[in-house]
Amino acid sequence: MKTDYDVIVVGAGPVGSTAARYAVQHGASVLMIEEHAFIGSPVGCTGLLSKRALEECDVKPSENFVLNKVRGAFVHSMDGNCLPIDGKETKAYVISRKIFDRTLTTMALEAGADIWMNTRAVGLENAGDKQILSVIRNGVSLQLETKVVIGADGVRSGIARMAGLGKVRKVLPGIQIEAPYRSADPNFVELFVGSQAPGFFGWAVPVSEEIARIGLAIDCEDSQCAQDYLGKLLRNNNHVSSRYSGGMLDFVVGGIPLGPLSKTYAEGTLIVGDAAGQVKPTSGGGIYTGAACAKIAGEVAASAALENDTSADRLAEYDRRWRAKLGRELAIGMKIHDFMGRLSDTEMNKLLASMNKPSILETITAYGDMDHPSIVIKKMLNPANSKHIFGVFTAFAKAVL
Ligand SMILES: Cc1cc2nc3c(=O)[nH]c(=O)nc-3n(C[C@H](O)[C@H](O)[C@H](O)COP(=O)(O)OP(=O)(O)OC[C@H]3O[C@@H](n4cnc5c(N)ncnc54)[C@H](O)[C@@H]3O)c2cc1C
Repeated sequence: MKTDYDVIVVGAGPVGSTAARYAVQHGASVLMIEEHAFIGSPVGCTGLLSKRALEECDVKPSENFVLNKVRGAFVHSMDGNCLPIDGKETKAYVISRKIFDRTLTTMALEAGADIWMNTRAVGLENAGDKQILSVIRNGVSLQLETKVVIGADGVRSGIARMAGLGKVRKVLPGIQIEAPYRSADPNFVELFVGSQAPGFFGWAVPVSEEIARIGLAIDCEDSQCAQDYLGKLLRNNNHVSSRYSGGMLDFVVGGIPLGPLSKTYAEGTLIVGDAAGQVKPTSGGGIYTGAACAKIAGEVAASAALENDTSADRLAEYDRRWRAKLGRELAIGMKIHDFMGRLSDTEMNKLLASMNKPSILETITAYGDMDHPSIVIKKMLNPANSKHIFGVFTAFAKAVL
């Protein structure tokens, strides 16, 4: 049994598989370990991916995993009004995460990575120029030596904790059902803002004309609390209750990490994806950002391992490069998240009503980008648009951008 790998990636989610593939492509021998016996299960995701997210993962939209196409959103506020945002063309795909994750893991295996399933990392120790990773494989304890460990082990990352890299700023509880639901238009997602999902938002993402993924995340530590809010959204929101036929086909609970780790590297260790909090704070989406960072992590881990310099100073290149690519957008996103979370229902109603003007909707159509919301906000600050928009928001946006 081969055990001497240059790089071990802990976690074979989309981010771990991408990091593993890039590490192999940059010359390293790579082992992925995954605690579950299946790839892509259990699913903790709505599966809404922008076109850019697929590109970043180096996959084409395939009918193997694309279930539906989305071109816009209807944003429902607490006063019963709706802001229609039409991107006019396909902006995102609704995917099967199970098949998508398996596609990415297959790509890593085809590139040359190995994988151990049913293998859980339980300890990490730095011993000079090597890392000792303790794992339990099929119930048997083993110690593996490697040059670099990449922690792609998700929102409650044990590798980040064991490497002394702390925690993300906050974790929002998210909850979702897949259920019979007649969407207003299956090419539009429906979003529910204000006190029906305090601190974040609710959603109904159409999988087909008859089925949607209906869920929410809230800014509160308690997942029972999120479950209560979802119950209320399903029962008390007239729009939702008139379209939801009851019951469910699938039930998902998960945490959304917001606010990246202040340091994502240590001696012989890199942290990536949800484990590092590389998630868009405005949407909770982590595939695009995670994949973008995973490619850098894989490349830097491989180069450092082949140079036999896996010191923290050497691996800091990863941190510098991913922050140069995404750090500003994530920081702005965090400020938008904080600002939106502080708005009262009345203020949120006013903000959405103020955006419901032809010139502003045209701006959103032209510049809306679910991965880079700062672009459209900047465009909305031009004098022709900003005179219409709720002043509190304009003042905030001018200060942030
Ligand atoms: C309700 C909800 C809806 C979401 N919707 C979207 C969406 O529509 N679009 C989007 O882009 N993002 C969405 N996200 C976020 C998205 O799911 C994550 O950002 C994404 O899964 C992160 O990928 P990852 O590979 O970093 O982590 P994960 O997908 O969590 O993978 C981590 C892997 O590590 C394994 N692992 C953990 N610990 C160990 C260990 N000790 N040893 C071995 N293996 C281990 C796990 O089993 C898992 O397979 C959503 C999240 C939630 C909670």
